[in-house]
Amino acid sequence: MQKFDVIVIGGGASGLHAAALAGKKNKTVLLIEHNREFGKKILISGGGRCNFTNSNASPSDYQSSNKHFFKSALSRYSPQDFIKLIDMYKIKWFEKKEGQLFCENSAKEVRDMLVRECEKAGVELRLNTKVEDIEESDTGFKICSNIGDFTSNYLVIATGGLSIPPIGATDFGYRIAKQFGHRVVQTNPALVPFTLQNPYTELSGVSLPVLIKVGKNEISEDLLFTHKGFSGPAALKISLYWNSGDRIKIDFTNGKGLSSQLTSSKKNILTVLAETLPKRFSERVLSDLSIESSKPANQLSRKDLNRITEHLCHYSLIPSGTEGFRKAEVTRGGVDVKDISSQTMESKLKPGLFFIGEVLDVTGQLGGFNFQWAWASAHAFAESLE
Ligand SMILES: Cc1cc2nc3c(=O)[nH]c(=O)nc-3n(C[C@H](O)[C@H](O)[C@H](O)COP(=O)(O)OP(=O)(O)OC[C@H]3O[C@@H](n4cnc5c(N)ncnc54)[C@H](O)[C@@H]3O)c2cc1C
Repeated sequence: MQKFDVIVIGGGASGLHAAALAGKKNKTVLLIEHNREFGKKILISGGGRCNFTNSNASPSDYQSSNKHFFKSALSRYSPQDFIKLIDMYKIKWFEKKEGQLFCENSAKEVRDMLVRECEKAGVELRLNTKVEDIEESDTGFKICSNIGDFTSNYLVIATGGLSIPPIGATDFGYRIAKQFGHRVVQTNPALVPFTLQNPYTELSGVSLPVLIKVGKNEISEDLLFTHKGFSGPAALKISLYWNSGDRIKIDFTNGKGLSSQLTSSKKNILTVLAETLPKRFSERVLSDLSIESSKPANQLSRKDLNRITEHLCHYSLIPSGTEGFRKAEVTRGGVDVKDISSQTMESKLKPGLFFIGEVLDVTGQLGGFNFQWAWASAHAFAESLE
């Protein structure tokens, strides 16, 4: 039976980074991935260009049942630390907006870089490997797999969340957590499009900047109408705070309100609205309110003007749901951080067992924050090795 200092299960973002960093600390490391290749989620991330970090990342960009848990790891491994690695490999990148850093060419460069780092650090890499059982052993852990049994002193669970099952997402990490007595905070799809009972199908493809709110959380971003409901950054970002049954409020003027032209213009009301809003959307609003689109704006009744204002600035609805884990970028919830060390990501219930990345109840906002958590939590684990 082969023995290792460290076994990492899950060859995605956090697992690859953790394995390489542990290998660099002269540990013998085995990295186990059940897919045919490493980092499949990295490959599809950021529309194929991997938004690998956010240079403005701060704790306010993350959600967890413990709002302090992620601070230590994030402060000890910054976006700049990961950029240094990217630059070392001469991977060209650019800032899309608001600190969101993307590869200029392809996400594959980031995945290949992480695999190369593992190879350089002497990590044993195993693809197509299915872990069947994990047992406690005298020195740590015994991992039984379809290619044989292995033992290790340290075991790192880096199996990610539940989103996009066809590329390998499993609940493995949650099952192992429960096996060792950990609680798992309820999991929900997040950074995910909404479905509506009566979607605006004829507006599918129309996009406009809006102010969108759930409770006290407010986002100003582009909203995209889809065949099923709402998507675009506004919907994806606000979904991080949404629970089934919650009401969503939308200001389609993005906080600007309606121009005074609306009351004074001799132009017809559709033309006036379409000066600041998409025409197809303006047509739909007027049709919903049964207001004649050819009527001059200055001839509308006070009541109709108020109805337009109400509809555009204070729209409110309860989505019927989301498009689920099939379309979600991440999982909200996960292994409860209450029993995990925020310094090292080690289990407080089973010494030597670590959880890193998305499997934990830590979820970042859209824009490179989730990868930054993957890198930072992997680093926190590796730092703890003597
Ligand atoms: C479409 C999409 C686009 C995204 N774009 C971005 C982006 O641009 N920027 C950003 O910051 N975040 C993005 N994310 C989120 C980001 O990909 C994840 O948060 C991140 O990959 C989490 O890293 P991880 O290591 O925890 O999990 P993962 O990267 O998901 O890795 C987990 C690995 O474990 C493997 N695994 C699972 N179960 C087992 C098992 N039983 N045995 C062995 N191996 C197993 C999986 O196959 C996988 O390789 C995106 C997500 C999606 C779905």
